Amino acid sequence: MDRKEREALMNDVESFCQEIRPIEELCYVEHRFNDQVIPLAKKHNILGIPVPKTHGGRGADCVTYCQALARIGREGTGVRTFFSGHTSIGQAPIMYFGSEELKKRYLPASVKGEKILAFGLTEPDAGSNPLEMTSTYERQKGKFILNGVKYLISNGGIADAIVVFAYQKQSASGKNPRVSAFVLDTRVEGFNKEDLTAKCGMPSSNTAMFEMSNCAVPEENLLGEEGDGFRIAMGALVTGRLSVAAGCLGVIEDCLHEVVSYSTQRHQHGKEIARHQLVQDHIAMIEMHRVSSEVMVKRAAEAKDEADAMPNQSELKKQADIWAAKAKFFVTNAAWDAADRAVQVFGGRGWSTLYRPGRHLNDVRVCRIYEGADEILKLKIASSVLGKEYEAFK
Ligand SMILES: Cc1cc2nc3c(=O)[nH]c(=O)nc-3n(C[C@H](O)[C@H](O)[C@H](O)COP(=O)(O)OP(=O)(O)OC[C@H]3O[C@@H](n4cnc5c(N)ncnc54)[C@H](O)[C@@H]3O)c2cc1C
Repeated sequence: MDRKEREALMNDVESFCQEIRPIEELCYVEHRFNDQVIPLAKKHNILGIPVPKTHGGRGADCVTYCQALARIGREGTGVRTFFSGHTSIGQAPIMYFGSEELKKRYLPASVKGEKILAFGLTEPDAGSNPLEMTSTYERQKGKFILNGVKYLISNGGIADAIVVFAYQKQSASGKNPRVSAFVLDTRVEGFNKEDLTAKCGMPSSNTAMFEMSNCAVPEENLLGEEGDGFRIAMGALVTGRLSVAAGCLGVIEDCLHEVVSYSTQRHQHGKEIARHQLVQDHIAMIEMHRVSSEVMVKRAAEAKDEADAMPNQSELKKQADIWAAKAKFFVTNAAWDAADRAVQVFGGRGWSTLYRPGRHLNDVRVCRIYEGADEILKLKIASSVLGKEYEAFK
């Protein structure tokens, strides 16, 4: 992507953000799904930012895509989570592991907004350890038959197709069970979904669970080879974690903008609250979160671009994986602290969803849970320092 294309993309992202802001604010306070995210993203052609141009996308590198997600993240974690589900963990596995036929069938349509995507790995009894999943598949007359339940899936109630994971049935209790990945069309018979709305935040985004009851998937919808599922899931988590980190950088930027604006207008004890040094402490800390998070996201995105440029170099892939984990852990915690401090600077108004800091605080908490909870990432980072023999789990 050259400079001109990057500028054009960021202008489109900016226009989308300006148009979505008043709608998102209204949906948030009314606790309803924001049904304008998709049409507006389609209007501004940002439904396939990193998808190659040959498949209809904008062809952005990871650094540019992260800049776009940081901008979108300022509009709220719910809005950004839609893009993570659709692009970072929905389109990405198809881009990296799909056959040419599968790419042709799903990528251009998803870029045009005709097919909305999601990623279904988590199950009621398999979260941090996806290998404890119980979904199964078996081959029958040229098709794969899928059974199981997927839980807490972003875009799961609005998706037209979902990247899903399941064990080969015959081997589910055997010695070497194989996990495979499929693209499942949600209009297929036996697919039943339910929106999950009792959430602590992101009320305007879609989170759902779904059941696959003898869902038939055509053979050509297998991603990679049979048995590649776990590798595909872990690959998607790299792009997914980067998207969460980038979105949280946007949250920090927005918190900083809000506290600067509010604290220089609000007066108490005869002066702007920005002149009270304990308020300046919050502002300094949010600014430090912003600059350090910017560096982390950029470095992690560069590592991913380096790995993508040389796909046969396994060391670069490993580096991209660990950088994504570090950036996700660091920036989500920084965003949580930044939102908490922004709420504090806003005082009583901060503790209201009518103001942006309160909404960010509600929303950003989940970023320390999904796509690898804090604890899981810490274990991964520690073993990257200590060595393979200290891995908490394989
Ligand atoms: C709003 C939302 C959207 C989501 N979107 C998606 C999606 O699009 N697709 C998808 O597949 N999933 C999605 N998820 C699921 C998410 O990825 C999981 O919730 C997450 O991986 C944690 O799994 P769990 O909830 O089962 O918690 P558990 O795995 O049960 O963990 C509970 C706690 O135990 C800790 N823990 C677990 N194992 C260990 C260990 N070995 N050592 C130390 N601590 C440990 C965890 O860190 C955590 O603190 C979403 C979740 C939410 C809330």
